[in-house]
Amino acid sequence: MSLKTILPGSTSPTGQQITLGVMGGGQLGRMFVQAAQAMGYFTAVLDPDPASPAGLISHFHIQTPFDDEQGLAQLMQRCEAITTEFENVPAPALVTLGAHRPVAPSAACVAIAQDRIKEKAHFVQCAPVSSVFPAPYATITTDALLAAVPADLLPGILKTARLGYDGKGQVRVSTREELAAAWAGLNKVPCVLEKLMPLRGECSVIVSRGADGQTVSFPVQKNTHHDGILAITEVFEGALDPALAARAQASTVALANHLNYVGVLCVEYFLVDTADGVDLIVNEMAPRPHNSGHYTQNACDISQFEAQVRTLAGLPLPTPRQHSPAIMVNLLGDLWFAPNAVREKVSERGVSPPWAQVLALPGTHLHLYGKLSARPGRKMGHLNITAPTVAEVRETAAKVLTLLGLPPLAA
Ligand code: ADP
Ligand code: MG
Repeated sequence: MSLKTILPGSTSPTGQQITLGVMGGGQLGRMFVQAAQAMGYFTAVLDPDPASPAGLISHFHIQTPFDDEQGLAQLMQRCEAITTEFENVPAPALVTLGAHRPVAPSAACVAIAQDRIKEKAHFVQCAPVSSVFPAPYATITTDALLAAVPADLLPGILKTARLGYDGKGQVRVSTREELAAAWAGLNKVPCVLEKLMPLRGECSVIVSRGADGQTVSFPVQKNTHHDGILAITEVFEGALDPALAARAQASTVALANHLNYVGVLCVEYFLVDTADGVDLIVNEMAPRPHNSGHYTQNACDISQFEAQVRTLAGLPLPTPRQHSPAIMVNLLGDLWFAPNAVREKVSERGVSPPWAQVLALPGTHLHLYGKLSARPGRKMGHLNITAPTVAEVRETAAKVLTLLGLPPLAA
């Protein structure tokens, strides 16, 4: 079903609360729920985990598997429109929902984003319009295709076509022998082998596209990863070359248009050195708000989550304006165990990172996801830092990183 306008504060003839739904109860779902609730909507979350970050704060939490027919029926019964917060939601579940309720993004778009083979084919198909190509790659689904891999893709990164995230499902390989062993180690599931690119940097772009095709773009994010996980996002004048940033934005809009995409979309890019300077390579896309877009919560007049709500509810979406230079620091579970960090003893039973000292610095905005236990590598929250000037935001970020025992910002 196509989207219609669902005005905030409206009442239904049957007295049922006007409710927006989300498939998935992770932190992205939680922040969607918070944005929807801020505008007066009721929310429903479908996620089997009783302690899911979004489920804990939603008006309704349907605790069934994502493909459970009764769960999906309950979600449809409750909701005027439904979105998703993770790309691994089973596409058939979105097809079921989409037959009866407006669903954005559509099952077809999510199905492309959740499969690297389809995703890369989409990038290649769009290249004449987006003028940006993916890294050289080969699809590996059979022993014959494995044997036919061109030698110039090595050294490379073997990535599972499905279910990879935060660097999981990826193996770096240098030789054919390593490649064959790595593919066997991944149980020969469908994969892509990507050439290892000499990265100068990484960036990403968030756009939101309405059912009418109107698309707005957020300012481009410069990203730093550690061990395959996003560590820092910086968004301010001078963080990225303006011409490259403009190209990344135009490419992202072209990719969204080509899919007739409706909703929030994030596309990740590599910046690579070439003979004539720095070029853009498209890496992957996420059919939802993205970790690198969290800075919008405190540095822009519309956050990526409010954009998701507005698009789903068919509301107007003027171009978001960034009002402050911003740096986002990801808070992984490692911080709860970090030997170099200042730590605060919060009770006889536990310690916490030094939030009181961090929050004493001007322009620090703490977002924790309500996860009940910390584990190394687990995304526990993020910290947005804003300031009136680039120098000040970098200065505060440097203090924060020292307090948390994290590596300093690159020069
Ligand atoms: P995920 O789904 O885990 O985010 P990505 O494909 O984005 O997977 O890879 C995670 C990170 O690994 C990237 O952000 C980048 O830092 C590095 N990486 C991935 N592919 C390549 C490549 N072809 N060349 C160099 N670095 C890469
Ligand atoms: Mg990625």
